[in-house]
Amino acid sequence: MTTITENEKIDITDEKAMSNVRELLEFIGEDPDREGLLKTPFRVINAMRDHFIGYSQDPKKFLENTFSEVEGYNELVVVSDIEVHSHCEHHMVPFVGKAHVAYIPDGRVVGLSKIARVVDAYAKRLQVQEKLTTQIANTINDALQPQGVAVILKCRHFCMCYRGVRKPESWTTTSKLHGLFMNNASTRMELFTLLAMGNSNG
Ligand code: ZN
Repeated sequence: MTTITENEKIDITDEKAMSNVRELLEFIGEDPDREGLLKTPFRVINAMRDHFIGYSQDPKKFLENTFSEVEGYNELVVVSDIEVHSHCEHHMVPFVGKAHVAYIPDGRVVGLSKIARVVDAYAKRLQVQEKLTTQIANTINDALQPQGVAVILKCRHFCMCYRGVRKPESWTTTSKLHGLFMNNASTRMELFTLLAMGNSNG
């Protein structure tokens, strides 16, 4: 019974969302009834489901399964160049780039792909880069309670590149550090050296 109600609710929302897309097409001066645009509202809401799938995901869940059989490995783990596809919450246009995530375990590690999943689950929402960076770092810090976490994001914002100030070459870099990365200069230096090596290799 509950399921049917939920389905009905989703159907109504789809219809309403599609009619809103139609209105936006009219707003920009288009004819939503011309052949090429007939299925556009349908495609747009499906694309939106994809872009914003993070709202239906709980990033903490990806970090529930940790393991400790790593021969006591308590050194840096760096997952670099994780692709970021997000949308700015001010203009609902994309910002894209790369995330570098590092942590120093304290007995427990997590599957490397899970780190990328956490990035994705937060990125696939309306975001500001600063908030996205902090959310990724805090979630990993809370779940793994490692000796340190560092998250660095470097993104290009379409709202800045192609409208407004129009600076297509500009990049925005943000970082959030916890634990040893925050408190220990040589740990921080080791991370930046590793990331720089990664850049020169690829
Ligand atoms: Zn924006």
